[in-house]
Amino acid sequence: MTIGILGGGQLGYMLALAGYPLGMHFRFLDPSPQAPVGRVAPRVTAEYNDHEALGKFVHGLALVTYEFENVPVQAARFLQKRVAVYPPPEALEASQDRLNEKTLFQELDIATTQFVPVNSPAEFEDAFHQIGLPAVLKTRRMGYDGKGQWLLRTPEDAAELKSAFPHDALILEKFVPFQRELSILAVRSRTGETAFYPLVENHHRGGILRLSLAPAPHLDPGIHRLAKEAAGRVLEALKYVGVLAIEFFEWDGRLLANEMAPRVHNSGHWTIEGAVTSQFENHLRAVSGLPLGSTDAVGHSAMLNLIGELPEPADVLGVRDAHLHLYGKALRAGRKVGHVTVRGATEEQLAQRLSELPAFFRRPEFCLEATRRSSSTAL
Ligand code: AMP
Repeated sequence: MTIGILGGGQLGYMLALAGYPLGMHFRFLDPSPQAPVGRVAPRVTAEYNDHEALGKFVHGLALVTYEFENVPVQAARFLQKRVAVYPPPEALEASQDRLNEKTLFQELDIATTQFVPVNSPAEFEDAFHQIGLPAVLKTRRMGYDGKGQWLLRTPEDAAELKSAFPHDALILEKFVPFQRELSILAVRSRTGETAFYPLVENHHRGGILRLSLAPAPHLDPGIHRLAKEAAGRVLEALKYVGVLAIEFFEWDGRLLANEMAPRVHNSGHWTIEGAVTSQFENHLRAVSGLPLGSTDAVGHSAMLNLIGELPEPADVLGVRDAHLHLYGKALRAGRKVGHVTVRGATEEQLAQRLSELPAFFRRPEFCLEATRRSSSTAL
């Protein structure tokens, strides 16, 4: 069976690595001739809206999935006329636009922060009065890793923004003074079977994910239930097939959905070593109609993203149960070039192993301070 994947980044690379033991073959399509999957699978270099290339790409494929959520919906629909496409293009449509996404959450009775669409400076004035300060203005489309976002704390911030107002369609959200950020990975198969990974605690710096702790330490079971219910509702509403990620804010015992991604997710990389079945394998099982694998965690894991530079591999691998993943990308500031997962049988053992990592990881951007806090409260 050959599976076609739109997008050829590290998510696609890890999907292929998970699929080979299941006897699957892959063909990727990505506009960049440098896409990381070139190391492990045949890759077609073409724009997503190049119908001629899509027509050739799809020839002989059993199904198509994606690892990039900004694939044009129209490309997914074009392919859907020829072969099964999972997750459904409706999920792409909902997640590519923050207004659609938050409206879907609202319709499904999933708590989210207050939001108002903004299409002009005049609408901004009205929205600003409704939402108040602090607030976050975001572009509705194509925002990622903190790009296309403006935090408004004071009336001066708002006045400054009005003098150079962004031209895009926007959304103004109430700022959430959250205690922490959590995410859930959920999966639904072609047969309707569902499974949920444990909630994960995420730490960002400069808008980029730096550290995930799984399962999230000191989790209230009520919060976990809310996250599973929310994910379950989205899966059913969209007749979703594949892995879905939803990111939340935890604030005062409440859980507010921030955004979702219709694909495997960076906050699920820990599942490669830290869960019985990885998110990548479960995505492939789901889209190809195989039974899902267990989503149980195996001990406690910390996933550290490598952004723009790499540590000395031997220094990482010298730590027991530390695992290094390098994506084969050119090193560039702000770019995700790899990750490290460290696992322990207990939170204390995990904290001990993290403390044995080389000095490279002691910089504040790795957020390891957070793990010391959680393990000392655990003691
Ligand atoms: P997003 O692109 O929506 O995931 O936002 C990137 C990061 O900005 C989030 O992970 C949060 O740390 C922060 N952020 C986004 N929206 C809000 C909000 N309404 N209130 C507080 N922080 C936010």
